[in-house]
Amino acid sequence: MTSAESVICRQESDRPMGDLCIQNAIPVDVARGEIRPACSIIVENGLIAALTDDPAATARTVIDAGGGYLAPGLIDCHVHFFLDAGHAPRVTYLEANDQMRMKWAVRNAAIAIEAGITTVRDMAAPAPLMFELERQVASGAVRGPHIVSCGYALMRPAGHCHWFGGGEVTSVADVRRTIESNLEQGAGFVKLMASGGGLTPGTVPHEADLDLELMREAAEVAHANGTHITAHCHATASIERAIEAGLDMIEHVNFVEPPGRYRYDEQVALRIGERGIVVSPTVFSALQTVRRFRKAGKTHHAGDVAATERLEGRLINTGHFYRLGLKIIGGTDCGATDTPFDSLVDEILSYTRVGLSRAEALRSVTSDAAEFLGLGAVGQVQQGCRADLTLLAGNPLNDLEQLRRPLRVFKSGRLIHEHSREGGNGED
Ligand SMILES: [Zn+2]
Repeated sequence: MTSAESVICRQESDRPMGDLCIQNAIPVDVARGEIRPACSIIVENGLIAALTDDPAATARTVIDAGGGYLAPGLIDCHVHFFLDAGHAPRVTYLEANDQMRMKWAVRNAAIAIEAGITTVRDMAAPAPLMFELERQVASGAVRGPHIVSCGYALMRPAGHCHWFGGGEVTSVADVRRTIESNLEQGAGFVKLMASGGGLTPGTVPHEADLDLELMREAAEVAHANGTHITAHCHATASIERAIEAGLDMIEHVNFVEPPGRYRYDEQVALRIGERGIVVSPTVFSALQTVRRFRKAGKTHHAGDVAATERLEGRLINTGHFYRLGLKIIGGTDCGATDTPFDSLVDEILSYTRVGLSRAEALRSVTSDAAEFLGLGAVGQVQQGCRADLTLLAGNPLNDLEQLRRPLRVFKSGRLIHEHSREGGNGED
């Protein structure tokens, strides 16, 4: 620090100083479900240092929010960077080379950021590409959200998403080796494929096709390494195995029974609640697939007449989960069929159709998501939180659509996207 700077600091020591001051903003308090009086938000070292009504509050960079609403950046808890979000993501993945796959991932990362999504959890990927993307985003070479990834998901031989390569397991030794290798390279959690899935021929959603013994071993290794573990579960039997194996979370939670029929099971749902297991119902992607099936007049697998009922069941399930007080986090499954990286608002809008308030739906992709995923001080506009913020034209607590096209997006206190220059000033 030069002597001139230290004089300025001394003179203004009673006023908040930082790297960035966002003036004239209305903070959205997602935890309380209310807005706060307009103020200035001071950011320092990527964190929110203060919320202050001091009109003289300033910083090295000053941005006038023009009375806009400052909400936390969103967290999409279920994404697939290396799928193209088109009609046939497995087919296009297998036809592409790594260069093309990385191109999709870079595009997906930008779409997420422009949609105000500042953190994502990637749920199955070609691990080397995934970790390379994370490095590039972390260095700033690629514009994208904070990423938590699992690297390779684990599945039985030829199981769901085996075509990403690297995740097939047949023994507890395989399970341990694969998880430890993922974690060594930078994975932040463990993902299992505990049932079949629509994207993978040779697997069926109603079958629990990963052995309980392997799931137990995976949970033990994950927890010994201080990370959480979750599983893709369509089959009711796979949900029961996830509970039995001691998993922390369940994805899709679809309640599918042989021969592919949807039947919600309240007793199983109650056990999920008793164990405090977090559910990620991924509703919107299922509804998108239903739309596609209806348009095409056919499903993925010939004769799978229960497919639409099963997919629409995810919305019904979410209503039950809410009624039972389960911990719900919002994720889209984007990258998968017809689900682009800006689908998160659609996901939480679907939650409000089955009982969640707008504030509760918003928490499922901000403060609750951060808490249940163990992300630390993220997902709130509050002192001490990571300064992942979106500036909105209207109040999202009155209208979730306001989240869809943020005016500005800040990642760790840095302006990373600006929708319109109108009304902006004072930027670097
Ligand atoms: Zn998925």
